[in-house]
Amino acid sequence: MFQANPNHSSSVLSGDRSIEVQHLTVMYQDVQALRNLTVTIAAGQLVGIFGPNGAGKSTLVKAMLGLIPAATGTVTYGDRPLAEQRQRVAYVPQRSQIDWTFPATVWDVVMMGRVRKTGFLRPFSGVSRRLAVNALERVGMAEYGDRRIGDLSGGQQQRVFLARSLAQDADIFCFDEPFVGVDQTTEQILFSIFRELASQGKTVMVVNHDLGESITHFDHLILLNRELIAAGDRRSVLQPQHMTRAYGGHVRFFEPQAA
Ligand code: ADP
Ligand code: MG
Repeated sequence: MFQANPNHSSSVLSGDRSIEVQHLTVMYQDVQALRNLTVTIAAGQLVGIFGPNGAGKSTLVKAMLGLIPAATGTVTYGDRPLAEQRQRVAYVPQRSQIDWTFPATVWDVVMMGRVRKTGFLRPFSGVSRRLAVNALERVGMAEYGDRRIGDLSGGQQQRVFLARSLAQDADIFCFDEPFVGVDQTTEQILFSIFRELASQGKTVMVVNHDLGESITHFDHLILLNRELIAAGDRRSVLQPQHMTRAYGGHVRFFEPQAA
């Protein structure tokens, strides 16, 4: 069941810019989490990073952004290391890495997206406030500005973090497992905003482990298991031999039938 996607064919604006990962190896002490991974992440597409638990998906994202060191290899965007261009990146980590007891309101969280542009301990500009209000409206959370982030549902929390990344006005968006613990409405909102960002020519990568029907939202897949198993357009990656190598013998995944 393939659906024609009206957005992603022709309107790529900055498709000349891609993230080039070359020969990336990441170690945690003696444990090799990723081995010699070479992959290109193009702008203007919705890129899914898939693989089983412990495959190194979060490690890849963190190493790309320079949040953890690479043992070997390079990650460039344009002609410079991506780690030197972190102001262009909006990153929403996995739920488990966020401190949900932190006493911040929804508004505080979204305005954190503006700190880098504004400067630490400086008053926020009118532009920053407008971007934050717009971002909350886009994710349907404008009414919740005064609520504590820890008191919201999983889906509402994820939408607030999406709003924070939108307020950042970034070129590159990385979301690590954004669909975990979210409701159907939130999932729809997330995918529709990811698609919109991609069609604006942004670089959008989403770590995901769900091999269900939602996989058809992605244009391009990167399949990992401690090393690169396959990367390319969705159909070329969703082949039984790749899936078996990544997930082991009995994996069930959504296999679209050719039209
Ligand atoms: P995924 O996101 O695909 O589930 P991760 O990137 O979190 O996988 O982890 C890849 C591997 O590296 C796993 O075996 C994990 O246990 C290990 N690992 C992740 N973080 C650390 C860490 N801080 N210290 C040691 N090992 C780690
Ligand atoms: Mg992870």
